[in-house]
Amino acid sequence: MTDRCSQPHSAESGAAQDLRASVSRQFDIAASRIPTLKRGLVDFLRHPKRAIALCFPVEMNDGSVRTFHGYRVVHNTAKGPGKGGLRYHPDVTMDEVIALATLMTWKCALIDVPFGGAKGGVICDTKALEESELRRITRRFIHELGDNIGPHTDVPAPDMYTNEQTMAWVYDTYAQEHPGRNNLPVVTGKPIDMGGSLGRSDATGLGTFFAAERLVMLGAVPGLSSMQGAAVAVQGFGNVATAAARAFQSAGARIVAVSDSQGGIFSEEGLDLDAVAAFKREHGTVVGVPNTRSLTNEDLITVECDILVPAAMGGQIHAGNADGVQARLVVEGANGPVTPEADAILARRGVTVLPDILANAGGVCVSYYEWVQNNENEQWDLEDVNRKMKRKMERAVDAVLARQRRLNLEAEATGTGDTADRPGLADLRTAAIVLSVERIADITLKRGIWP
Ligand code: NAD
Repeated sequence: MTDRCSQPHSAESGAAQDLRASVSRQFDIAASRIPTLKRGLVDFLRHPKRAIALCFPVEMNDGSVRTFHGYRVVHNTAKGPGKGGLRYHPDVTMDEVIALATLMTWKCALIDVPFGGAKGGVICDTKALEESELRRITRRFIHELGDNIGPHTDVPAPDMYTNEQTMAWVYDTYAQEHPGRNNLPVVTGKPIDMGGSLGRSDATGLGTFFAAERLVMLGAVPGLSSMQGAAVAVQGFGNVATAAARAFQSAGARIVAVSDSQGGIFSEEGLDLDAVAAFKREHGTVVGVPNTRSLTNEDLITVECDILVPAAMGGQIHAGNADGVQARLVVEGANGPVTPEADAILARRGVTVLPDILANAGGVCVSYYEWVQNNENEQWDLEDVNRKMKRKMERAVDAVLARQRRLNLEAEATGTGDTADRPGLADLRTAAIVLSVERIADITLKRGIWP
């Protein structure tokens, strides 16, 4: 094991800085389209409400002791408690966590659930750790966070390289330290038999499909009128990517490419997802599935397809490769996979981008349903969960399209639509952030700035 697994980067890593800069830039573009927004509120929304950096020791299985670094950020609580995932990755930084918490604020407002935005992370490489070590890292991190998380203050959930087992440890640690009350709503994404919601594990991926389907059905993607026979390339083969791939395939699309951290695979006729999953279980990667062509993750972005679903990492579509994207629609399953420079290039080329805060909001939507069920000590049927989530995703898509139309009418009327790097119309991301920011600003002012 290397030190890199547990040490904070001395200077924030380039990727994390880029994500924070991207999220700020997206916000600036949206804020410039809301002239009525008070300048003081713009400044307030640019910063996290609370950012915690922790350092804690963990005893490893070989008897050594290692120091780990973790972060938890609450960006905004105007609409309710903080809500957001917990990421375990060697490249986690405070900048990245702040950026992701900010996206959660926009996402919760957009999908209209009563939460604010939060995010957390621990610098570690889960592939180099035993399960018992991960359990001790999780327990100690949650213990250190203490009452900074709670059912009505800040509610974690899974993200990259954390899963329902991690959430079970989060719950158990918090419950051990808060006996005698219902602690289930302190965390979502739990196993079903300990308060998890049916449908949560597939919710993010399934939601990306519901949003994309609505957009296509409404004729909002030039050159794409149906999912039937559409060629779909998916970056990633984790939680979001696999559920998305299966949902697109069930609607008649062909999944022509998937990938993981080691590379990708391509098949013109469409991949057999069960066979790919079985191969990955046996070999630890999708690369090498029989009768497929190997790709790099960089190749996957520019592969021939109708729909591209980046569902792994941030910053994957950038100024260097956006010109090569062949898809008509990019569906951001991951958080922050398209940089602002790439947004501008794709917009100019007529490629529609379904932004992360809309495309992957199905996860936090069903996390909210889990939280409601936990508070009520109920368990809803899978059909009810999926039906409700689909409706919320469709409403959010409709609202963003309506706001986009109004933004463009406003720009036409005032002659303010064009900027140097984004000529012409407001894209869906700008419309989505505008809508979210307006909702949060409205609530903040209705509540009244305290005191
Ligand atoms: P996961 O850990 O289940 O999967 C991550 C995937 O990324 C894996 O397939 C992994 O092999 C791949 N990967 C890792 N490094 C890579 C690299 N360098 N190049 C290409 N692929 C790489 O994580 P997840 O929960 O599916 O999350 C994926 C993305 O979706 C993240 O950006 C996350 O923030 C976002 N997201 C997740 C949820 C959720 O509910 N899980 C909700 C909203 C957004």
